[in-house]
Amino acid sequence: MSVVTDVDQTIRQVRREVATLHAELPKYGLVVWTAGNVSARVPGHDLLVIKPSGVSYDDLTPENMVVCDLDGKVVEGEHAPSSDTEAQAYVYRHLPQVGGVVHTHSPYAVAWAARGEAIPCVTTMCADEFGGEIPVGPFAIIGDDSIGRGIVETLRESRSPAVLMQNHGVFTVGPNAKSAVKAAVMCEDVARSVHLSRQLGQPIPIAQPSIDALHDRYQNVYGQR
Ligand SMILES: [Zn+2]
Repeated sequence: MSVVTDVDQTIRQVRREVATLHAELPKYGLVVWTAGNVSARVPGHDLLVIKPSGVSYDDLTPENMVVCDLDGKVVEGEHAPSSDTEAQAYVYRHLPQVGGVVHTHSPYAVAWAARGEAIPCVTTMCADEFGGEIPVGPFAIIGDDSIGRGIVETLRESRSPAVLMQNHGVFTVGPNAKSAVKAAVMCEDVARSVHLSRQLGQPIPIAQPSIDALHDRYQNVYGQR
């Protein structure tokens, strides 16, 4: 088997994975119209697979996903890639442990982002998944690498796989695309719960040692071994 065939097979598999995972975003109410996207690193290669720009969720297929290099340049695909490709490519270049990135404008998370307020860690689920508060990254607009830089600098300071980019939306990362999707779903759920709690009063903080214990157990013990 030639090396080229090997790459092609891997890309085909990642195209299928990324196309399938996009269905989770509308399913959980995280996106409207064509906003939002999932991308994945092609394991073992300096490539990523991402959603095409401006194609509706119902029309996404493995074939119309776009393959880019880690500078965001199109390598394979008939469509233009998502306008978030540069930001996501920056994340893959600077965080080698990241295998998947998700971006949404999910409404409760954006309600926090629009105020530039981190979501405090006041539920065990937040401690489990995020290991502390869900942090806020800087205000940044498309056009240079400032979104990517803001994501990377904020996530490096945090255990959270999610960052709320101020006035914008959510970016999540994971060892693979599925875990980044999960973090995006959990982020919106935590944002909603804590928002609702705030309407009723002041949520009770969880002590740091308990946050650490919950996070450690969830990340290392919980689930099917
Ligand atoms: Zn956006």
